Amino acid sequence: MRRDTIRWAERAALLTAGSIEGRAFIDGRYTAALDGATFQSRSPVDGRVLADVAACGGADVDRAVAAARRAFEDGRWSRRDPAERKRVLLAFADRIEAAGEELALLETLDMGKPVAHSLAVDVRATVACFRWYAEAIDKIYDEIAPSPAGTLALVTREPLGVVAAVVPWNFPMIMAAWKLAPALAAGNSVVLKPAEQSSLTAIRLAALAAEAGLPDGVFNVLPGFGPAVGQPLGLHMDVDGVVFTGSTEVGKLFLQYSGQSNMKRVGLECGGKSPHIILDDCGDLDAAAEAAADAIFFNQGEMCTAGSRLVLHRAVKDRVLDRVLAHAATRQPGDPLDPATTLGALVDETHTRNVLSYIAIGQEEGARLVAGGRRVREETGGCYVQPTVFDGVTNRMRIAQEEIFGPVLSIITVDSAEEAVAVANDSPYGLAAAVWSDNVNTVHKMARALRSGMVYVNCYDADGITVPFGGFKQSGIGRDKSLHAFDKYTELKTTWMKLR
Ligand code: NAD
Repeated sequence: MRRDTIRWAERAALLTAGSIEGRAFIDGRYTAALDGATFQSRSPVDGRVLADVAACGGADVDRAVAAARRAFEDGRWSRRDPAERKRVLLAFADRIEAAGEELALLETLDMGKPVAHSLAVDVRATVACFRWYAEAIDKIYDEIAPSPAGTLALVTREPLGVVAAVVPWNFPMIMAAWKLAPALAAGNSVVLKPAEQSSLTAIRLAALAAEAGLPDGVFNVLPGFGPAVGQPLGLHMDVDGVVFTGSTEVGKLFLQYSGQSNMKRVGLECGGKSPHIILDDCGDLDAAAEAAADAIFFNQGEMCTAGSRLVLHRAVKDRVLDRVLAHAATRQPGDPLDPATTLGALVDETHTRNVLSYIAIGQEEGARLVAGGRRVREETGGCYVQPTVFDGVTNRMRIAQEEIFGPVLSIITVDSAEEAVAVANDSPYGLAAAVWSDNVNTVHKMARALRSGMVYVNCYDADGITVPFGGFKQSGIGRDKSLHAFDKYTELKTTWMKLR
């Protein structure tokens, strides 16, 4: 069936008639939380209840970690031939692809993004990620180090052991895949904790992995709340590494958990307040303005790399702002189940109120609201906020310093490239930054001066699994994606041999 003719609303009605799995997945089986606790998963699309989801706790964490440990120690996955691990992970990717429409619908119902994006972006990137790490794992060689005659020094990589992955709700499947794929490819056992706002696709992925042949205990999913599941995973004495994507505030807690327990390895992908700079020698203001709008309105602005500070040279400011406002006008929130919709619902009521409170803060701080600012479509029972633009923002304002994680753009005007860099770097975060200029000297100098993990030149959010993704400063520690991700999931071992 052609995907643009799918009747998503009808499918959604069938799906939600009590058919959505909400239980945890431990040791190869779906299971309720030990104490039977559940919470309701409510859709931000229209407020409907989707499923009762297991509210796991410390005892469930112990069960899942024990299953993961058993699987790791007996070598059912950790010591398998890499070519065999590749085969299973490729089969897993095939099953995700085959279930793509179902997964896309679940993702949209659960966290509100347009279904067209769930299908074209989330499902596709998830499949591609598993395929890439599956293909990588039987092609990576270890090292023989230079060493004195009569000796041999081997540098080998070994899986960490039991890895806990704690992920957010903005790209539930992709964020999980960025952790799961390299962790599993390297031979680890994983306990995945999805965000409480978006547990459903993670729960479904567990069954697809089992069907693909992933042995019991190697991949476990524990839905539940942060303090009830994330914290005991972070503090667990038998978890060897925890990889986290989420807010900087919670990321810092994982560093504490590690210090309070077994000094487990911690990888953090946290927040951002990314500067998007357009200079006076930018040769294509149309493209720059469109990229600026995409950078803040795609995924409802619920993007760690959102270009939330648009830093404009005074000479081009009015022309860019006019174009950005025109784009904002065409991206009004719509029904996420309509394939034509480009801006969907925010993830839930609490987050919607938070975004609206930042819009009020911006006005109190003296920024000029030039587009949006209101909640809309309230009659649907869902969570929708207009694309919002503030002009006259100074970098000291809270709306320029704090991550809003919604469709709210701050325009900051500068008089030189040097001032643009100073503004860009004046942030606790350092995830992404962009610069638009046709001067090759300027772009090279600025790319070096910008303190961020990703720099985009004359583009924004260019993407590929082949390159590392992560941040400087309080945007995180370590990198997802690319072969560098294996650094998070492997220990280096040096073996010295004396030859006789
Ligand atoms: P969050 O920090 O509130 O939650 C993330 C995860 O941590 C969830 O699973 C949550 O249940 C868990 N958690 C919450 N409190 C916890 C606690 N006390 N102990 C242990 N675990 C706890 O983040 P969010 O609201 O789900 O996601 C939005 C954030 O994620 C933004 O800051 C965004 O920038 C960030 N993010 C970063 C990247 C990146 O790659 N750098 C990518 C996507 C999202």
